[in-house]
Amino acid sequence: MSEFDFDLFVIGGGSGGVRAARMAAQRGVRVALAEAGALGGTCVNVGCIPKKLYSYAAHFAEAFEESHGFGWHGDAPQFDWNVLKANRAKEITRLNGIYQNLLVNSGVTVMAGWASLVDAHTVQITHPGRSERVTAKHILIATGGKPSVPIFPGHELVVTSDDMFDLDPFPKRLLVVGGGYIACEFASIFNGLGAEITQLYRGEQVLRGFDDDVRNFVVSEMKKTGVDLRLNADVKHIARISDGLAVTLMDGTEIVVDTVLYATGRVPKVAGMGVEALGLVQDKQGAIKVDDDYRTSVPSIYAVGDVTARIQLTPVALGEAMKLVDHLFGDNQRGMSYEFIPTAVFTHPNIGTVGYSEADARKKFGEVAVYKSDFKPLKHTLSGSAERVFMKLIVDTATDRVVGLHMVGSDAGEIVQGFAVAMKAGATKAVFDSTIGIHPTAAEEFVTMRTAAS
Ligand code: FAD
Ligand code: NDP
Repeated sequence: MSEFDFDLFVIGGGSGGVRAARMAAQRGVRVALAEAGALGGTCVNVGCIPKKLYSYAAHFAEAFEESHGFGWHGDAPQFDWNVLKANRAKEITRLNGIYQNLLVNSGVTVMAGWASLVDAHTVQITHPGRSERVTAKHILIATGGKPSVPIFPGHELVVTSDDMFDLDPFPKRLLVVGGGYIACEFASIFNGLGAEITQLYRGEQVLRGFDDDVRNFVVSEMKKTGVDLRLNADVKHIARISDGLAVTLMDGTEIVVDTVLYATGRVPKVAGMGVEALGLVQDKQGAIKVDDDYRTSVPSIYAVGDVTARIQLTPVALGEAMKLVDHLFGDNQRGMSYEFIPTAVFTHPNIGTVGYSEADARKKFGEVAVYKSDFKPLKHTLSGSAERVFMKLIVDTATDRVVGLHMVGSDAGEIVQGFAVAMKAGATKAVFDSTIGIHPTAAEEFVTMRTAAS
C-alpha cells in the first residue's frame, strides 16, 4: 500500500495537464486531476479551437467576394454573429465532454475545483462550499496563463482575448492593441467578419521574433484587406462616451470605437496557489522555473506548458507532458527539442514558419544562402483578389541544410507542417531540389527555388 493517495496529481486540465494525466493513467499509474474551469483549458475554450473556427467564419467573406470571378453571382449572404457564437459554444461543450470521457476512461480521477499546494506532497482542492486534501508522490503544475493588461487610465474598459468569443453586440469598430500572435490574428479575423479594425503596435513592426520579410509582407497583406495598422503608436487613456469608447493615443489622436481588445501578452497563472510559500523558484513574471526534466526547485513537484513561459503553444505543452510522463513512469527515452518547432499565425493570409529567421540564422550559422519568392497564386488570376504569396528558404552554406522555411499565404500552416518533418530530419537544399513538386500548388514553389537572393 502506497503512503500517498495518488502517484501523480495534476493541477490544471488544459493541453499539458490532460495529456500528462491520460498518458500516466494509461501506464497503470494512479492519477488525479483538478480543473477549476472547463476541461481542455485555454486551447479548447478560449484559444486555438474557437479562434480557428472564427477564422474559418471570416474567410467566407473573401470566398463570397472571390467567387464572382469564377462565375458565381447573386447577393452576398449576410453574417449572423449570434449563430456563429451559438454553434461555437455547442462545439466547445462537446469537446469538454470528450475530454472528460478521455480522462475518466483512462482511469483518471477528475476533480472539479481549484487546487493549491499545501506541502511538497499535499494538494488542497476547493469545491463550492467544501474543500479536501489529497496526497501524491508527484505533483504536476499545468495551470497555464492568463492575459496581461497594463494599468493606465481607462484600462478597466478594455477586453482581452478571453472575452472576444462572446462579445454582445458584435463590435462594429474594434481597436486592437498589441503586435503579437493574438493581436494580429484577432485583427484579421474580426476584419474578415466585418468589423472596422484599427491596430496599434508600440514598436517599429509587429510580430517581433519572426523573419523580417515575413513581418513586412504580412503587414502589407493585412493592410490590403482593410486593417488600419498604426506603428509606433500606443494608448494614453480611454473614456466611455455616449457613442462608445474614446481612445486617446500618445500622439494626441482620438479614435472612437465600440470595443478595445488588449492583446499585450500572457502571464503564468500561479496566484494564490502557495507556490511562493513552498519556495518554488519563479521568474519575475511568476513563471515556474524547471530543469530539463520539468522538475521545479521542489523535487516532487513538476511544471509544464504555459506556466513555465517557455514557448506558449499547445503542441509544446503536449510534448513536454509526454516527455515528463516517460521520465517519471516510462523508460525515459522520450526527448523534447525546442529547435525547429513549427508554428502558424492565423492572420489573413496565414503565416507558417519553421526554423530560424534570416537574422537569427546569420547569427548562428554565419554564412547563409537565402531564397525568396513572391507571387500571385493561381486562384487569384480569376478571383480578382490582390492577395499574394511569399515564401523564403534559408540554407546554412557550410552544410547545405535548410535551417529556415517561411511562408505567408493561404493554408501556410498546413503546408509548413510537412516541411517541418523534413527539416527536423536534416533535409538539405539538394534534397529539396531533388524533390518532385505537386502541380499546380503554391507549395511546389518550395522545391523549385533555384536562385539565391543573397
Ligand atoms: P492551459 O491550456 O491554459 O490550461 C491550464 C488549465 O489549468 C486551465 O484550464 C485552468 O482553468 C486550469 N487551472 C489554472 N489554475 C488552476 C488551479 N489552481 N486549480 C485547478 N485548475 C487550474 N497555441 C497553438 O499551438 N495554436 C494556436 O492556434 C493557439 N491559439 C491561441 C489563441 C489564443 C487566443 C490563446 C490565448 C492561446 C492560443 N494558443 C495557441 C496557446 C495555447 O492555448 C496554450 O499554449 C496552451 O493552451 C497551453 O496549455 P497549458 O496546459 O499550459 O495551459
Ligand atoms: P505575444 O507575446 O505574442 O505579443 C504581445 C504583444 O503585446 C507584443 O507585440 C508586445 O510588444 C505587446 N505588448 C506587451 N506589453 C505591452 C504594453 N504594455 N503596451 C503595449 N503593447 C504591449 O502575446 P500574445 O498575447 O499575442 O499571445 C501570447 C502567446 O500565446 C503567444 O506568444 C503564442 O505563444 C500563443 N499564441 C499562439 C497562437 C498560434 O499558435 N497561432 C495564437 C495566439 C497565441 P513587443 O513585441 O514590443 O514586446
